[in-house]
This record gives sequence, C-alpha cells and structure tokens, in this order.
Amino acid sequence: MTQVNTPLLVTKGLTKRFGGLVAIDDVNLTVSQGQLHCLIGPNGAGKSTFFKCLTGQFKPSSGTVTLEGQQAQGLQTQEIVRRGVGIKTQTPSLFDGLSVHENISLSALRSQSRAQAADTLEEMLSMFQITHLVRREVGQLAHGQRQLVELAIVLAAKPKLVLLDEPAAGMTGDDRVRLTQILRDLARRTTFIVVEHDMQFIGDIATNVTVFNRGRVFAEGSFAEIMARSDVQEIYLGKEVDVAA
Ligand code: ADP
Ligand code: MG
Repeated sequence: MTQVNTPLLVTKGLTKRFGGLVAIDDVNLTVSQGQLHCLIGPNGAGKSTFFKCLTGQFKPSSGTVTLEGQQAQGLQTQEIVRRGVGIKTQTPSLFDGLSVHENISLSALRSQSRAQAADTLEEMLSMFQITHLVRREVGQLAHGQRQLVELAIVLAAKPKLVLLDEPAAGMTGDDRVRLTQILRDLARRTTFIVVEHDMQFIGDIATNVTVFNRGRVFAEGSFAEIMARSDVQEIYLGKEVDVAA
C-alpha cells in the first residue's frame, strides 16, 4: 500500500466507558488526506469523548486508533503531537506571557530550521491577517483574535492532521468569516477533524460529516446528504441544541 492510499486516521471499535456509562461505543471512523471532517450530534452524543480519545486526553477502554497506519491509541498527547497532529484545545506551545511573534516562531522552530521558521511566521501572519498583532502578548488579546492566533500557532508546526474542538465558539463578525476562509483554503493541503455545533459554519467548511448519537456513529455523508435525512433531524428533536452565537 502506498502512503497516499493509507488513510491519515482510522479508528476501529473505539469505545470509552466511564464506570457503567458507555460514552462512545464501537466507533469506526476513517479520515483521509484532504478531508475537512466535521463531527456533529446532540448534546451527550460522545463527540468530545471521541475527540479526547484521539488527542490522548482520554485513554480508550477498547478499540484502536491508527495514524498513517501506525497504532496510536493510549499515547500521551505530546507523543501524538510529535506524530504530526495539531491540537487546538491543548495548544502545548502557547505562552500567554509571550508575544504573537514569539509564540508562532517557537511552534515553527520545533520542527523547522531558523530560515523555514521565519518563512512560516510570515505565512501565518499574512494568512491570518494578524501582522498588526505581532508584538502583542497572547494573554492580552480579545477572544476572537486569540482564537485565530491559537490556530496560527498550531498550524505553524505544519501538522498533517489538525483536531479542532469548536473553533468558531464565541467568534463573531469578521473573525468568524476569516476563520471560515482560512479553513477552506487550508483544507486543500491539510486534513482537519472538527467538532462543531454551529450548522451554518459546518455547512460552510465540511467536506465530510459524521453524526454521533448515543455514543455511536449514526450517519455519515456530505453536509447536504446529512441535512436531507429525516432520521438525523429526528435525533435532534426534543434535545437541547447548542447553537453558537
Ligand atoms: P458531546 O460532546 O457529544 O456533548 P460527551 O462526549 O461530552 O458528549 O459526553 C458523552 C457522555 O459521556 C455523556 O453522557 C457525558 O455525561 C459522559 N461523560 C463525558 N465525559 C465524562 C467524564 N469525564 N466522566 C464521566 N462521564 C463523562
Ligand atoms: Mg462536547
């Protein structure tokens, strides 16, 4: 099998129990190169638990995770990051007391030469349109700006796969539009798994959608296919639906 044909991420039978509660139950998911794969589902469906099993925040009770064909279940987050996965909830290289410039450069320098890291810094500043923030301390930024800068820091490490938990949460206006454009542009060369509540945002970015319900994969397809299914609409009925502002 050539590398091109090896899916970036595969889970088989992934299960996580909390005592007697089965939070995710036998989840089989394949994410291929170039997908912007969104995970949706009602509250309590298991999306965050699944996500945390991929990031190393939770150890799965059973099942496997493979990254580019290599087993990865149960690894520590740092080890998963070293395998080329960018994780926005963790942002292990984020330092509030350092500037935007310093944070992006440190992230890039983990895997790149000085010259490459300097190019990466310029690339991130221009892609995110944050050149004017470059000397600011990350801890001083407004929420929407910080979200963009955190993503720039993750991407500066040039990950093969990026895991994002609710990247649009609390973002409004221009920041949100910019995030949508950046994800769409990047999706041509980077692969994403995104947990998100906001259906409009998902419709704007997703190439693939997986619907979770009661810890299991309930449906998979394009956004249009998923939205057209009455059984998908039914699982949301009578449930509290989180809608980002
Ligand atoms: P979602 O992100 O889709 O809203 P979660 O993955 O957060 O769903 O939750 C799935 C189920 O697992 C829920 O019943 C939730 O209460 C339970 N759960 C999640 N995290 C924990 C935990 N750390 N300890 C015990 N139960 C948990
Ligand atoms: Mg959740």
